[in-house]
Amino acid sequence: MLVFERVAIGSGHGIRCTRCHPDNESPVYHPAAQVLAAVQAVVDTWHGGPGPNVTLTGPEPFAHPELPGMVAGAIDAGVHRLRLEVDGGAFARPGNAEGALGAGVRHVQVTLLGGTEGVHDALAGGPGAFDAATTGMAALDDAIRTAGVAAIVTVLVPVCRHNVADLPAAVGAAVQAGAASVLLRLEDGGIDLEAAAPWITAACDTGVVNGVWVEVEGVPFCVLPAYDLHLASTVRATGGAKPAAVCHACPLDRVCSGGPEGASAETMSAFAPPAGAERLAQAVSRSRGGAR
Ligand code: SF4
Repeated sequence: MLVFERVAIGSGHGIRCTRCHPDNESPVYHPAAQVLAAVQAVVDTWHGGPGPNVTLTGPEPFAHPELPGMVAGAIDAGVHRLRLEVDGGAFARPGNAEGALGAGVRHVQVTLLGGTEGVHDALAGGPGAFDAATTGMAALDDAIRTAGVAAIVTVLVPVCRHNVADLPAAVGAAVQAGAASVLLRLEDGGIDLEAAAPWITAACDTGVVNGVWVEVEGVPFCVLPAYDLHLASTVRATGGAKPAAVCHACPLDRVCSGGPEGASAETMSAFAPPAGAERLAQAVSRSRGGAR
């Protein structure tokens, strides 16, 4: 699996649930020179795997006044794969998709908070956001085909208590808009995991039947029996993932819940180790080359 190092283009966040985060601070963008110095440091210290690969993170990149120069500078600095994390809407405006591809962007991750206007717009904080995101993705897809470049568009769905019942629809919307894969990332440490599990598995199934892989981050093994292959950063070491010791109840503890939030120990106390935990832990260990 490709590793991407993250470089923040400013303080603040991209699109996220306004009910979980009612006090979303206004973004402050870093000067391009500061961002490019951080990018150069990544390139200079790249560890030797396929790359260097960089994700520009933080607030919406298309609101950064120096985005074109930053993208060009990152490519000039030697970045092999440059990924943007976006809300998608900017690509609906003429020229943006072509401009991003022409500057060297090859990976784009669009955030969807739901699979319908009703959920996405309500959580994103304004009307029109869902339509802009999906229209933008379609425009980017068209631009990729026209340019004939090898570029990929994926979707991130930050999972919380407010959108969990919309996860299958979110995956369906991502499929419709041309996403190559979908990442469901649990970002609500207090969510009712038992109630969430059927929606998460339905979302995985929606992707599979449509030929689009769905990865799940931040959910422990025992919550999704038989869906362990979908647990992205728990079974494969990914850049930035920090396995969290959530309960110490079984041999999977060291590889469980690799997402940014995961579930709290209190939440996990309601779950028991999965059947065959020891064998599963050994399989994970082998998939990591025995290092555990
Ligand atoms: S019992 Fe604990 S360590 Fe085992 S799979 Fe569940 S959360 Fe992970």
